[in-house]
This record gives sequence, C-alpha cells and structure tokens, in this order.
Amino acid sequence: NGLLFIYCDHLRFPVLTNRVCLLIDPLSNSITEVIDRPTILIVEDNPVERQLIGKILRNADFEVIAVDCGEVVLDTVIQYQPDIILLDALLPDLDGFDVCVHLRENPKSLNIPIIMLTGLDDVISINRAYDAGATDFFTKPINHSLLVHRIRYLLRARLISEQLRISDQSLTNAQQIAGMGYWEFDSERRRLNLSDEVLRIYELNIDSNESHDMSVFYDTCHPEDREQLERTIAECVHTYKDANLEYRILANNTDVKYLSMNISAMRVKGEVSNHILGIIIDITERKKSEQEIVQLAYSDTLTGLPNRSLLGLYVDQAISRAHFSGLCVAVLAIDLDLFNRINNAMGHSAGDAVLQQLSDRLNRLVNCREVSVYLGRLSQNTILDDIPFSMVARLGADSFVIVLPSVNRSSNDVADLALRLNKEFQSPFNYRGQELFVTSSMGVAYSESGSTTTGVILQQADLAMHEAKVQGRNTLREFSGDLVAQVSTHLSIQTDLRGALKNSDFLVYYQPKISSKDQSLCGFEALVRWTHPTKGVIPPDQFISVAEETGQIVELGRWVLETACRQTKQWIDQGLIDVRVAVNVAARQFKEGNIVEVVESVLGLTGLDEKNLELEITEGVLMSDATSSEHIAALRDQGIAIALDDFGTGYSSLSYITRFPIDTIKIDRSFVQDITEGSQQAVIVSAVTELAHGLGYKVVAEGVETQEELEVIRALNCDEVQGYYYCRPMPAGEMTEWLQGRSNVVTLGARAK
Ligand code: C2E
Ligand code: CA
Ligand code: CA
Repeated sequence: NGLLFIYCDHLRFPVLTNRVCLLIDPLSNSITEVIDRPTILIVEDNPVERQLIGKILRNADFEVIAVDCGEVVLDTVIQYQPDIILLDALLPDLDGFDVCVHLRENPKSLNIPIIMLTGLDDVISINRAYDAGATDFFTKPINHSLLVHRIRYLLRARLISEQLRISDQSLTNAQQIAGMGYWEFDSERRRLNLSDEVLRIYELNIDSNESHDMSVFYDTCHPEDREQLERTIAECVHTYKDANLEYRILANNTDVKYLSMNISAMRVKGEVSNHILGIIIDITERKKSEQEIVQLAYSDTLTGLPNRSLLGLYVDQAISRAHFSGLCVAVLAIDLDLFNRINNAMGHSAGDAVLQQLSDRLNRLVNCREVSVYLGRLSQNTILDDIPFSMVARLGADSFVIVLPSVNRSSNDVADLALRLNKEFQSPFNYRGQELFVTSSMGVAYSESGSTTTGVILQQADLAMHEAKVQGRNTLREFSGDLVAQVSTHLSIQTDLRGALKNSDFLVYYQPKISSKDQSLCGFEALVRWTHPTKGVIPPDQFISVAEETGQIVELGRWVLETACRQTKQWIDQGLIDVRVAVNVAARQFKEGNIVEVVESVLGLTGLDEKNLELEITEGVLMSDATSSEHIAALRDQGIAIALDDFGTGYSSLSYITRFPIDTIKIDRSFVQDITEGSQQAVIVSAVTELAHGLGYKVVAEGVETQEELEVIRALNCDEVQGYYYCRPMPAGEMTEWLQGRSNVVTLGARAK
C-alpha cells in the first residue's frame, strides 16, 4: 500500500518491498508475487573463506553466488544482478581494486554496493578501496555477525538511495514531459543551479551540475523584457515575495521563445530561507496560438489590414491622447465607387484583386503596421508615443478607413493625404493583365474633444463620404453639422414612408415627351409624388433612394406602374393618345420584385397593351446582377420597350451599352443644361446620338428648359425631347386638360397646313 516503483529494464522490483518481488508482465497485464531474497555475490579465491562466508550469509537468509577470480565478476554481475558484492582485494588473476574500478564503469553495476575485503589495519588498501569506488570495506579476518549487520545496513541504505534516485529521475521525467524547468538560487552564495530541462529550454550547452549565476537568464533575454525580468527576480531575492512573469528569450540568438517563470522563496518550517526557487515553462506554442487567434479577431482576412474591432480600440485611445496634446484625430472614410460593377462583370476574384492592390497602396501611403504592433502599443497605452502610427483598416466590402491619430486641424495634413490618395486611384488596378480603373468617394471627420466617441467620429466620416457619393462621387467631403440634419430627415422619411403607402399619400404626375422633328406627342414619363400630411409635397429625389434602401420601392413601384397603366389606358380609351407611358423601375424591383410577372399581371389587370408601355431603367439595374439582362430580354420579347435612363451620369462606357438589349437612351439633363453649339457637351451628345442610332436606339434629351437648348439638341439629331420647355410634370387631371387642349392645337395646326 505504498508507492510502486517499476524498473522498466527488467520488470521487477527486488528488495524494495520486504523481500517480496512482483513480476509484472506488460503483455498479459499480469502481476505475480514471488518471494525474493537479496542476492550477495562473493568474490573470493580462498575456498575456505568463500564457503564460510557463504554459509553465514545463507543462514542469514540471503541468496549467495560465489566466484573465485576477477575475470568472471562482471559477467556474473550482469547475469545475476546481485544486491551486494563482497570483493576480495587480493585475487589470483586480477587486482581486486581494478575489478572494482571496472564494475563502477559499467552502468549495470554502477549502483551496486561493493564491500571490499582488505587486510586488517591496511590503511593504504582502505584508501585505495574508496578511490576505486567501493561503498565500504571490511577487514579480514572476518567478524561474521558484524558482516551480516553491515550487509543489512548497506541493503537498507541502498534501498533508500535507490528510491531517491528513482524519485529524482521521475521528477526529471515529469518536468521534461511538462516542459518545466527548475532552478534554485542561493542568494547568499550567489550560486544558481539549473535543471536539465532549463538547459533544454534555453538550448544551453553547459553542465547542469556546475553552478552558474543569474546572467545565464539575463544574457539570453529579449532586450525589451530584460529589465522586467531582472527587476522581478531582484525583488523576490530582497523581499521574498512570490512573483510570476512572462518574458521572451532569444534562444540561439534567433528563435524567440516565450517563457513563463514562477519565482518563490523557499520556506523551511514556515521561515523564508536564502534559497529562491524558480519554475520555467516554455509557453511558446500557447503564445503562438493566442497570437493567431488575436490575428484572426483583429484583422481582415482578405487584406490582412486591421479590422473594425482593432480600429475601434485604436481610435478610442487615440482620441483622448490627441486632445491631451492639443491635437485631434482625423478619420478618413473611403468607399469605392460602383465597386459592384467589377464584381458583377468580372467575378469576385477580380474584385478581391482590386481590394488587395488597393490595400497595398493605402498601406504604403500611411505606413500601416502589423496588427500585432498595434495590439502591443494598445496594451501599453503608447499609441501616440515616439512616432504616432497611422492606421488603415478595412471595414467591409469596399469600405476602408484611414486614421491620422494626431493632426493639427489648421494644417494641410488631411488635404495632402487626400491628394496623394487621389493619385493612387489614377493608376489602374490590374487583374489578369487587364487594367481596371476605380474611383473613390471620401469623407473626413475630426474629433471635436477628448470625449468624442469612436462610434460618432466613424459615423460622421461615413456620412461625409455618403454625401460625397451623392455629390457625384470621386470627391472628398468634410463632415459638418448640416449633414446631421439631412440624416435626420432621411430617418424620418424612412419612418413616414411606411404609413404613406397605406394612406395613399402618393400621386403620379405625367410629363410628355415631344418629337423634335414635328413636335408631336411621343409618350409620357410617369413620375411619382408624395404628398406628406404635414411636410407637403416631397420630391422623389428625397425619398426614392430611401425606399430603395429599405426595399419599400418594390411595393411603391408596383403601385406607380399600375396607376400609370390604368391612366394611360383611360386616355387611350378616350381617344386622346395612343403612345407609350414610361415608368421608372428601380434595381431592387428586378432583384426582388419578379418584375416580369408584375408587369404581366398589371397589364392584365389594367387592360393596357404591351405596345403602350416603356420601362426606364438605369445602369444600376444592368449592373446589379446578371439575371436582370435576362429579365429585360423577356420583357422586350413581350413587346415592352426599355429605355436606359440618366445616360452619362454613371460609368457606362459606350461599348458597354451595346451588350444590352434596349430601345431608347435618355441623355441626362446635365448634358443638356446650357448646351451651346460646338461645346464639349454638344460633342458628347452628338457622339452618343450617332452611336445610338447606329445601334437602332432612339435618343431622348431630358430636361430641356430653353429655346436655345432645344435648338442645339434638335440640330444634334435627338429624336425626342422632355423638359419644362414644353411641359412640367402634371397630375392626371391637368394632364387630361393639357392633352385635350393640345389635340386641338395639333388639329388646328394640321388644318392650317
Ligand atoms: P428621372 O427619371 O431622370 O426623371 C426626370 C426628372 O427630371 C424628373 O424629376 C422631372 O421632373 C425632371 N425634369 C423634367 N424636365 C425637366 C427640366 O426641364 N428641368 C429640370 N430641372 N428638371 C426636369 P422628378 O420627378 O423630381 O424625379 C426625380 C427622379 O426620381 C427621377 O429622375 C427618377 O429617377 C426618380 N423617380 C421618379 N418617379 C419614380 C418612380 O415611380 N419610380 C422610381 N424608381 N423612380 C422614380
Ligand atoms: Ca426616368
Ligand atoms: Ca432621367
């Protein structure tokens, strides 16, 4: 019922348990108990002595083996593994002392107690015996009862030392398995003892039995951690307080290892002593996986840049630090314009390539560091020490943020950065040898005080960036208070829109399209209006984009379509017109609203003929996803016309439109406004018209307000004109009157001819 120590080499443990030996067979997992007696090997050439000693020892219940010369001693020892050897100093063939030396050199007999039998008072022999490695000596003539006692004593001593040896070995093995090194420092003698495992961890080629000093630890310590290590150990030596620290070493001057050290003053009976004990564990693996986890948690997988979480921590700290020194934090939000176009047209790997190249460029521009560097500085609250590190983070798809942690608001730092950024966008990105041009919209916001929160400053930069997009993209906008007002309107619109559909607060206005050749009516555009119960009429520019964001456009769009179709059918039935009504359709209606079925059902419901309907779509629809061009084709197959709206404002290259099946191009008002003969606008309109005609498309000029504009447009061969010059959008009732009046004019004109 005590501890069991198992010899692995011969699977038994003799002598240890009161002469009971357990034979353990690891294969069958069985344990047999046998009685075992200590075995004594007698090496004696004198037969009388030999027999006499043998008899005495057998009587004392020992197992006895005897040999008469030195030559066979080692073999016998190996074969029988005696527990004690009685070795005569004088042998006929070999010198007994040499035999002893020999036995000590062999690991099998290294630890077996050897009693040398020497002549009485032969001091020289006694000294030689000890020098040769004997455990004890016994003088001849032999006192028999004393011999038995001496042997028993040695056996007991051997048992204890064996147990010690084994427990020492077990400890060493356990430490090795646990990767745990152990050291002991005698602070009075200033001597340090190291366990083998410490040497292994430190990759040191020195003898663990020698004593060392603390420089062993300090010399290999990572320079950044050395001071702390020295301080912690010194503190423990002086105050006897336990301590624990993690530090790095440069094993072999190159590999960084992470170690954890526990230091404690040794206590003897509750009193501290001069001995300091330390345990060292190699925690490199754990640290590495921790770092990997941190890396994953704080960086963006595609670009390796810091992500939103890290950005948040960084800005938090930067804001208070910057204001402390009278500066502020600038946050620059960057969003790529129409990035989806690349994804949709060329696949996501093209999009990824652009994002990666862009992140490299941004990285270079502001010298962004590794994620771990920021984390290190954050943990020590030293974000703004030495050179303050700027940061580039990727927040999502195509949205990036640059943070300048300490700028003077009156300086040109941010403007300079924006200029340099702009340059970066001027050179093309590359995907499989193809050049891709991308522009970006940027918004900048500054922290107002040390208490500005990260959430607020990011939101402000984001708002400013969105404003830049609204203002036509590819620009920089700075955040200002009135943007907030705009946002709150935006939010209230979002809320109010929900009720508006239920309460039928919408109306459809109509604006005619007139032939530029003979001024005949070619069609109408249906334009929605919202009569808000308290805010009055809200123009579509203010709510269509909101409805698109929230998805309400699907329902609203269907309502406009149905209303416009019903009205047109009525006018046709009244004999007032027989033209197409053009209804605007948003991208989301294609994506989510199964537009083909909706159109079919609305036509069925209202009785309008396909040939009297045209749908106006923007490039956004064409680019939003691949299936929309299938839908468009399906609609055209049914006889419905398709117009490409706002042409020229997006990024449509002329070649791009040739790929889509459409009927009409509507040139945006920005090209028509103030157009004069020979102006750049005129050149563009002329080129577009020519190409469109070449492809069999009709061309409509939008927003013609003046006689001058009309004349230039006409000269450039546009087919139709829509604008205030002829007629503003009007509600159905007024439109009916206009039509009635107009049919008279036309008729009158015709009569006059
Ligand atoms: P849009 O499709 O480009 O419509 C033409 C816009 O130009 C209309 O603005 C019209 O009133 C305006 N306009 C026409 N002639 C002139 C002119 O001579 N001078 C000026 N300054 N403006 C002129 P509106 O009605 O405010 O609509 C704005 C935008 O809202 C439309 O632009 C369209 O994109 C969107 N929208 C309107 N109704 C609907 C709808 O039912 N569904 C969808 N999805 N979008 C709609
Ligand atoms: Ca339109
Ligand atoms: Ca338009």
